[in-house]
Amino acid sequence: MLLPGERDTELWITEDGLVADGPIGGAETLADRGWIVPGLVDAHCHVGLGTTGATTLAQAVEQAETDRDAGTLLIRDCGSPLDTRPLQSRADLPVIIRAARHVARPKRYVPGLAVELDDPALLPDEVTAQAENGDGWVKLVGDWIDRGVGDLAPLWPDDVLVEAIEAAHAAGAKVTAHVFGTDALYGLVRAGIDCIEHGTGLTDELIVEMAGRGTALVPTLINVENFPGIAAAATRYPAYAAHMRQLYDSADDVVRRAVQAGVPVYAGTDAGGGIGHGRIAEEIVALRRAGMSASAALGAASWAARDWLGRPGLTPGERADLVVYPTDPRTDLTALREPGLVLLRGRPVDQLSAP
Ligand SMILES: [Zn+2]
Repeated sequence: MLLPGERDTELWITEDGLVADGPIGGAETLADRGWIVPGLVDAHCHVGLGTTGATTLAQAVEQAETDRDAGTLLIRDCGSPLDTRPLQSRADLPVIIRAARHVARPKRYVPGLAVELDDPALLPDEVTAQAENGDGWVKLVGDWIDRGVGDLAPLWPDDVLVEAIEAAHAAGAKVTAHVFGTDALYGLVRAGIDCIEHGTGLTDELIVEMAGRGTALVPTLINVENFPGIAAAATRYPAYAAHMRQLYDSADDVVRRAVQAGVPVYAGTDAGGGIGHGRIAEEIVALRRAGMSASAALGAASWAARDWLGRPGLTPGERADLVVYPTDPRTDLTALREPGLVLLRGRPVDQLSAP
């Protein structure tokens, strides 16, 4: 069975690892039954980011392998302090769409990860530079704790955001932003940002605006699980701690309301730093818990995310990047934890060797 839909079909793969348009004589059978899903997508992942900054290139390769073995064959990297371009030429690793470096302000993000701008007015120029270094995405830090305020607060003035997002679009790149709270969202969404990461502070008004504009949301629910721990550690900032707890409590409900309003929602684990790689199945289960249908939650990490990112699914002539499950994952999403077969460009990943 080929998902999405109910197509009982045979899939043939060419010598070059592409989906064929018909039967191929003398072909080897890799699987004779199962549910075929276009290669999973982690729409918010960080390859090359460790707990204390950039990893080595070898560690970044291990992270990408862990994602791959879990069925994630397309990664939208949401910012990395390591230049992971060398991974992109390797046939044994997932396809990576990079957002180059995060853009933040001093003391307003995890130290050592982002390009930090002393003057926020430099944002449009920096966004243009990052657009040149990335693969069509630029990542901003939209809000973070402001220790002077004692709570989450926006990093950028609204007029600078308008200019910066225009500059990115002119350079052919889309823009996304890390946002936990509510205040930063108005400026970002109204400036025409393409996607919001986390988005735990979304209000109904903002959800309606995002749905109208087609702004995507990647809620990273398995990262939101860390909010109570962040709150517990923030003993010197009680307002911030209370805010993080409240955002945690309403996170599933925010996703439910966004889905109901028609906001496009995609699966991202936020792996890297404190979150392990290879956890896409858990994020899909979390999206289901938050109110997506099982099929939509799976699509948010496969065919729908591929469409959004402009990467084709399993049509003739395209890469045979796919996962086969022995049971229907839409009936029981826990099947996603144990892929029967993962093919990267037509090759079983357990048979791939590093160059
Ligand atoms: Zn992230």
